[in-house]
Amino acid sequence: MRQSITSPTARAAVQEAEPVDCIVVGAGVVGLAVARALALAGREVLLIESEGGIGTGVSSRNSEVIHAGIYYTPGSLKARHCVRGNALLYAYCRQRHIDHQACGKLIVATSQAQVAKLQAIAANARANGVTDLILLSQAQAIALEPALRCEAALLSPRSGIVDSHALMLALQGDLENAGGTLVFNTPVEQVQLMPRGGLVSTGGRTPMTLQARLLVNCAGLHAQALARRMTGFDTGHIPACHYAKGNYFSISGRAPFSRLIYPVPEAAGLGVHLTIDLGQQARFGPDVEWVSALDYQVDAARSAAFYQEIRHYWPALPDGALQPAYAGIRPKIQGPGEPAVDFQILGPDEHGAAGVIQLFGIESPGLTASLSIAEQVCEMAAATDPACRTR
Ligand SMILES: Cc1cc2nc3c(=O)[nH]c(=O)nc-3n(C[C@H](O)[C@H](O)[C@H](O)COP(=O)(O)OP(=O)(O)OC[C@H]3O[C@@H](n4cnc5c(N)ncnc54)[C@H](O)[C@@H]3O)c2cc1C
Repeated sequence: MRQSITSPTARAAVQEAEPVDCIVVGAGVVGLAVARALALAGREVLLIESEGGIGTGVSSRNSEVIHAGIYYTPGSLKARHCVRGNALLYAYCRQRHIDHQACGKLIVATSQAQVAKLQAIAANARANGVTDLILLSQAQAIALEPALRCEAALLSPRSGIVDSHALMLALQGDLENAGGTLVFNTPVEQVQLMPRGGLVSTGGRTPMTLQARLLVNCAGLHAQALARRMTGFDTGHIPACHYAKGNYFSISGRAPFSRLIYPVPEAAGLGVHLTIDLGQQARFGPDVEWVSALDYQVDAARSAAFYQEIRHYWPALPDGALQPAYAGIRPKIQGPGEPAVDFQILGPDEHGAAGVIQLFGIESPGLTASLSIAEQVCEMAAATDPACRTR
């Protein structure tokens, strides 16, 4: 949908607005990766964040797992970006000395009925290009992880963990070294779409109006709300937004496991799994709790279901060991009971607004996928803007 600036007041607003080549909204891991990639491609970039620092949203409330790309529907954006993002992320962590560990993960079948499901999971992974999964017998799995109880397991060697904040700091450093600018405490309040890009009005202590040739919406849990505040954007292209909270519990002391332990998925989410952080502390979660507001309190009463699920694969979990830890909220497009929906990365070819790219539903594996998503956004930006191709 093209907007023409015809009224005198609108023309005056355009003349007064500070011109910026690209504005990226949201300094989570995805916005940082996108802004960095655009800046490295030679574009002038302003990354605008409403909070006082990087990664205070979904990006600091997750499992910090580098996923391999096992479960996602073959051909989906989640599958493609997870598999490519996994390779890009390990390479970037090595290059920038970001703390990470390719500790591996076991997907454990705790009943004979689940053993057959392991084969189906391995076949799906192969279709996604993940060909290194190893099917382990009960004895082989327990030899690797003596505290484990299972009938069989799949070992994913390329699953791992990363210090997500160190990752975001490295992305910020690259952005700034490439000439990009990051502003905090600056909520984007309104956008008036123009024939290309838009007039972006911000709030905060120093409200501004900026004229961006390219606008990328990486606002995470608020992406749909921001898209609705873009005058001239066809709201038919804004998907639903549902909040699926994921609660975590931790145990004190070191984990009796050295790999990530995931049950065979049975419902929404990947099941209450055990992850370890880089200090070998164990945490369990996330579960799935549909909520209507952003509330990060963990209800201690939810631990009863956690004990039950965890003891399927770790029967020795002591009574009273679980402590409420933290919660994150997934920006899901689908509601309770609805089939999983892919990431939506929508450019002008999809919604018709030149110079606008919208990212919706960037839930897991968004951390793993961030560098690959950034590649796609850069390609879309170049493909749809003739001026960029000649830079
Ligand atoms: C419980 C849970 C577990 C997960 N585990 C994993 C995992 O193990 N591995 C994995 O790969 N992925 C995981 N994910 C997914 C991953 O964390 C997310 O996909 C990723 O962090 C999303 O990053 P983002 O930059 O899109 O969003 P965010 O980090 O939320 O960033 C969006 C930013 O936009 C800002 N913003 C919003 N509106 C405005 C506005 N109007 N103006 C200016 N700024 C604005 C917000 O303040 C925020 O900083 C998990 C997610 C959850 C919830």
